[in-house]
Amino acid sequence: MNFLRRRLSDSSFIANLPNGYMTDLQRPEPQQPPTPAPAPSTSPAPERRQSSQSTGSGFFSSISNVVKQTAASAGLVEQTATAASKKFKVLLIIDEPHNDWAKLFRGKKVHGEFDVKLEQAEFSEINLVSHADGTCNVDMQVFRNGTKVVRSFKPDFVLIRQHAFSMAENEDFRNMIIGLQYAGIPSMNSLESIYNLCDKPWAFAQLISTYKALGPEKFPLIEQTFYPNYKEMIAMPTFPVVVKIGHAHSGMGKVKVDNHYDFQDIASVVALTQTYTTTEPYIDSKYDIRIQKIGNNYKAYMRTSISGNWKTNTGSAMLEQVAMTDRYKVWVDTCSEVFGGLDICAVKAIHGKDGKDYITEVVGSSMQLVGEHQAEDRQLIADMVLTKMNQVVPKTSMPSPQRPTTAQPPQSGSLKEGLSDPSKIPPQRPPPQGGPVQPQGSQTQSQEPPSEQAQSVSAQEPRPPLPPAPTTQQPRPQGQGAAPVGKPDEPPPKPLPPKPLPPKPQPPKVQPQAQPPPQPAPQPKPQAHPQLNKSQSLTNAFNFTESSFFRSANEDEAKAETIRNLRKSFASLFSD
Ligand code: ATP
Repeated sequence: MNFLRRRLSDSSFIANLPNGYMTDLQRPEPQQPPTPAPAPSTSPAPERRQSSQSTGSGFFSSISNVVKQTAASAGLVEQTATAASKKFKVLLIIDEPHNDWAKLFRGKKVHGEFDVKLEQAEFSEINLVSHADGTCNVDMQVFRNGTKVVRSFKPDFVLIRQHAFSMAENEDFRNMIIGLQYAGIPSMNSLESIYNLCDKPWAFAQLISTYKALGPEKFPLIEQTFYPNYKEMIAMPTFPVVVKIGHAHSGMGKVKVDNHYDFQDIASVVALTQTYTTTEPYIDSKYDIRIQKIGNNYKAYMRTSISGNWKTNTGSAMLEQVAMTDRYKVWVDTCSEVFGGLDICAVKAIHGKDGKDYITEVVGSSMQLVGEHQAEDRQLIADMVLTKMNQVVPKTSMPSPQRPTTAQPPQSGSLKEGLSDPSKIPPQRPPPQGGPVQPQGSQTQSQEPPSEQAQSVSAQEPRPPLPPAPTTQQPRPQGQGAAPVGKPDEPPPKPLPPKPLPPKPQPPKVQPQAQPPPQPAPQPKPQAHPQLNKSQSLTNAFNFTESSFFRSANEDEAKAETIRNLRKSFASLFSD
């Protein structure tokens, strides 16, 4: 216990914890009384509020919390039967707080029986951990009305209404898109399309293909030139041109260049940015055109600058809805097919004073809503989300990919025992379809009422070969946390014998095929520190450096000692 006290009071240990970990330890201990009031939340049904959940004494609840959280982040957490029977589906909407989605989903159900539990946050307010078994644990820290709300949940569906990438804002959230895709979380638009739209020239390449297929009459794409860096930005045939630097929004990084000298100046600026650039002929425009498509709803707008800025989205401008024409419909329909399909999209074009149209860009689900019908558009999006959730969110959770078998025998006073409720041992997890039947040794406990936080702690196991990545357009093959699709009369899971350390995460270039197929009955390998099994994940979660995986024997022994101490401490803690 003293060790734990020392460990938990070590400021570097606390500082190294990921955001949201042990937040109650990082705050001063609440005075007695009063008890801190629960933080308000935008969500209709909060799942967990770390900021208000310390009901026991601060120290013991902190230990309990850190056990749960470290287990979750270390991949030890599996959904229990209680989670499988949860009566809600979590919808994560990534959007600014002033766009109130809550009212549109209040009282809504999926599959006629699951409440939609809405979580809304901006990209900058979330972090996540994804596992190959399809679980994605999202941690969210939001400030609402001056109150910090910290929550964790597993999204069943995601609507993304913010740009995942903007150089101008120095905001790059593509890692979040990767994480959601990694766990196969279904979304609108597809995560694949969102990732692909993160570089405008990459998206423009799709428009070039469409232009080639349809021809300039049907699809009048603007002429554009791409420079991967400043080095080739030497000469331009005609001026004026518009130089578009990198991937930025809201008119940022767009410069009108009138002559060769200015172009050279801009090229020298591009040299500092270390990004790509595109150039287009400057169109002396009458107005901008925007054709938007939300499902089967089409709207067309024209925007005219009032303040005289050549960028109509800078300064003041007038926006008018105009008639949807067949021509516009062809544009937006063909653009909605790029990158596997865009549920929500818009095509931008410029109508020149020469009477011609010039298509400049396609945007996806992060497109801003404009005009008088924003409320209607938002409702359309909400309806589409519900429809899609009904299509792709599974009613029941699916089994997770297999891990190699074997489990460590239960040890007296172990963390697992300390947390365990013997009456809640889940049925054995079935194998994935077509896979070999493997006994699963993880013992599951439910510590909380049915919720996203229902957790189990399993023995540390190496990761199996990765499963095929699920596509976001399909119903997710892995459900939330692999809740056992249980056979109630199955015997309880067998304990896991000692296992080797988990392999270091593979770089993406490693081919899944190169990995050995799952073995029906892998043999437990002898290892130097068999007793480390369960605690190794704790060491990972305790933020030991990556080099821990390549440690020396001495380091191993030191770690083993640490783990033994931890286990003893936990044992005494939970045997009270
Ligand atoms: P977004 O915010 O949609 O990601 P953006 O506003 O940063 O994009 P653009 O839409 O390409 O970038 O350009 C901003 C504005 O500049 C356009 O709305 C248009 O009025 C004007 N513009 C863009 N390209 C040209 C061009 N080639 N000729 C004339 N005007 C242009």
